[in-house]
Amino acid sequence: MHELRSFGFDFLCYPFSSVELALADFKSHITGSTLVGIGYGYWGIATQSMSIENGMLAGGLCAVSGMLPDLDSDSGVPLRETSMFVAAIVPILMIERFKDLGFSHEAMALAAMLLYLGIRFVAIEFFKRYTVHRGMWHSIPAAASAGLLAYLLMPCQSEAVRIYKSLAVVLGFTVHLCMDEIWSIDMSHGFRLKKSFGTALKFFSKSKLGNISVYGKLFILLWLAWGDGGVADRIRNRTRQEQTYIAQPRQGIDFEKWMPWR
Ligand SMILES: [Zn+2]
Repeated sequence: MHELRSFGFDFLCYPFSSVELALADFKSHITGSTLVGIGYGYWGIATQSMSIENGMLAGGLCAVSGMLPDLDSDSGVPLRETSMFVAAIVPILMIERFKDLGFSHEAMALAAMLLYLGIRFVAIEFFKRYTVHRGMWHSIPAAASAGLLAYLLMPCQSEAVRIYKSLAVVLGFTVHLCMDEIWSIDMSHGFRLKKSFGTALKFFSKSKLGNISVYGKLFILLWLAWGDGGVADRIRNRTRQEQTYIAQPRQGIDFEKWMPWR
């Protein structure tokens, strides 16, 4: 009974400090998500008949996604490193999307530059201003949103590969959240839960606005991914374009047919 009471007391009174929150630091997170990423890549290549490139890319995506949740920490290594990495890597991953949009090489280079600047300076500023560390960006719906965003950014000929890569992002994100929870169990003086316990792997937070904003974004992304049409539509479009390219006898409206007086 005494044990139980002291456990409750400790739980309520354990000091809440940013030092504890940073325990599962940047390096641990990267190590954790990289190891899981290697496993995920191997699993994809060995059992899901993914190509070696796709397996390695998915592993890399998983490793990088392990940094994403700490974009909400306003200062220090996580934000700086993560923002630079994300800004550099997203434009490269979006090449297929640019091709789909029919961009020329110059337009692609310009779009990549604008994206880099947009992520590096605008999106990061947004994270600094509008997110709280361990707020709703550290949550399961946020992990799902990151996966959906990856799905939208990286179209692919094969829907299976596209989903495999998007799941890598969700996995990396979730590994980070799990590690944050594990790191908030203090075993140094017996079993003790720090106050940060339960602030990472969660569906809802106390902030109503945070909940509405995260679930709002999640549903918008779901709707966009749903409407993205997948490969079938693009292939159909391409075939249609090719057909019009090959057979171009009729351009515009056939006036002869619609002018009965002629
Ligand atoms: Zn974290």
